[in-house]
Amino acid sequence: MTPVIALVGRPNVGKSTLFNQMTRSRDALVADFPGLTRDRKYGEGTYEGQRFIVIDTGGLTGDEQGLDAEMARQSLQAVEEADIVLFMVDGRAGLTAGDELIADQLRRSGKQAHLVVNKTDGQDPDIAASDFYSLGFDSTFLIAASHNRGIRSMLELLLPSE
Ligand code: GDP
Ligand code: MG
Repeated sequence: MTPVIALVGRPNVGKSTLFNQMTRSRDALVADFPGLTRDRKYGEGTYEGQRFIVIDTGGLTGDEQGLDAEMARQSLQAVEEADIVLFMVDGRAGLTAGDELIADQLRRSGKQAHLVVNKTDGQDPDIAASDFYSLGFDSTFLIAASHNRGIRSMLELLLPSE
C-alpha cells in the first residue's frame, strides 16, 4: 500500500516548497504571498524505493471564514485521506494563535499528526523548535524545506521500511 502524506498548516509556512522537494517537481505553485494554493494537490514521490503520495493544501488559518472556509474544507479533507499528517509551522515566525487553533482542529480530527518546524535555516534549530513545545506534539521534525534540509531523515522515520 502506498502511504499518503498530508501537509497542513497556516499559509506561507512552506507547505508547497516541501511538496516540491518531496515530489521533485514544480507542480505545486510556490509563492511569496499566502493562500495561493486553494485546493488540494496530489504528488507522487519515492524515498529509498518506497513510493508515497503527498497532498499539498492551501492551508488552515484557524479562523475559517469566506475563502478560508473552502481552503479549510480542502485541508481537513486531506487530513481525512492521509495515513501520515504533517502539521507545518514557521520556525522564523514562531508560534502564532493560528497554529494553536490548527493544533486544536487536528486534535479534534482524532488523527495523529507530526509537528514539522520549517525555516530552521539561519538559526539554532532547537531554539526555533522550543517555541512550539507547548503545542504538545510527541513527534517533531526540524527542516528547512527550501534548503532541502531534514527532509530525507524525516521520510526515513515516517515511511515503513520494507
Ligand atoms: P505555503 O503557503 O505553506 O505553501 O508556503 P510556500 O511553500 O509557498 O512558501 C512560502 C515562502 O516561504 C516562500 O517564499 C518560500 O520560499 C519560503 N520558504 C519555504 N521554505 C523555507 C525554508 O526552509 N527557509 C526559508 N528561509 N524560507 C522558506
Ligand atoms: Mg502553498
